[in-house]
Amino acid sequence: MDERILLSMPQVAGTEQKYITEAMADHWIVPLGPHVDEFERRLQAFLGTGQPVVALSSGTAAIHLALVLLGVEPGDEVICQSLTFSASANPIVYCGAKPVFVGSEASTMNMDPDLLEEAIADRLRTTGRLPKAIIPVHLYGMPARMDRIMAIADRYGIPVVEDAAEALGSEFAGRKCGTMGRFGILSFNGNKMITTSGGGALICPDAATAQRAKFLATQARENRPYYYHEVIGYNYRLSNISAAIGCGQCEVLAERVERRRRIHALYSTYFAAATDITVQQNPGPEFNSNFWLTTVQLAQADPELVRQALAERKIESRLLWRPMDMQPVYAQAPCYGTEVAERLFNSGLCLPSGTNLTDEQILHVCRTLETLI
Ligand SMILES: *Cc1c(COP(=O)(O)O)cnc(C)c1O
Repeated sequence: MDERILLSMPQVAGTEQKYITEAMADHWIVPLGPHVDEFERRLQAFLGTGQPVVALSSGTAAIHLALVLLGVEPGDEVICQSLTFSASANPIVYCGAKPVFVGSEASTMNMDPDLLEEAIADRLRTTGRLPKAIIPVHLYGMPARMDRIMAIADRYGIPVVEDAAEALGSEFAGRKCGTMGRFGILSFNGNKMITTSGGGALICPDAATAQRAKFLATQARENRPYYYHEVIGYNYRLSNISAAIGCGQCEVLAERVERRRRIHALYSTYFAAATDITVQQNPGPEFNSNFWLTTVQLAQADPELVRQALAERKIESRLLWRPMDMQPVYAQAPCYGTEVAERLFNSGLCLPSGTNLTDEQILHVCRTLETLI
């Protein structure tokens, strides 16, 4: 095998060029245009709940806008899963608010509902106030335990922002990730489920909120003949050309989800009887991960050494996200429950899961990995 096997490469659908050409021909190379509307319609149709979707310049921008729409301000606290990419938490700081991290439970690797409950109670006790929002993450596509998280959030009346950046197509109890909280966010960065070469989306609870999101994302221009601003706005809309790429990508989205699941099944079957490596599985019938990336836990081997050895054999793998409580920039932030996330990080590895990889290439990864653990 002479080609390098990469972790997760963007894959063109083939129809993107058609939509881009259409946009160019109609002079829609402006920020907003018909392809933005069409991309939003396609995402909304895929999610199937009727919730309006607002296309934005990134997933990070979508989290930031969700927090702005929830009125998160300096002095507020916002709860965020600790085992995640920093982009889940950074928008809390953009708002001048303080992140409070919550650790993971082992099976989903996502926010532990018991620790969430403990965190809320302790913040109430020590600060006298409730956190302003909760950001659970569906890491690597695996749904968080949304039934319990929503029950706790609802009991305290705290809105949930679902970070579904990696979980487009995943479901929990038959409901699509991103549609269960007050807001959901998606990412179309290069290596996510689908790409617009860079982009994101905000899944909104209703049309009025979506309208407000669009207003804030286009510099908060009031409807007057001159530029007039009552609130601070942002330049967060997705460009029409990017949306044209997204229109093409939407046509193969269902296929891509199936392919990621098939790749996960290949890994799972290969290592089914192994004792030194465990492939993450849906922990119950309610869970239906898109398996954006297949992740494994190694019983003995050091994941960093395995990663290096795989790289020498032209196979790209990646360590798990390093928990936020282990990041210097968040060293001062409170964190409830660090043990499980740190253990997952210390023995976890993400395996090549791109939809352009063949079954033969995945089996080659399996055979190579087997010799290294
Ligand atoms: C990619 C990602 C984001 C940010 O999305 P961008 O489009 O890159 O800004 C946020 N959260 C998680 C978990 C991600 O993987």
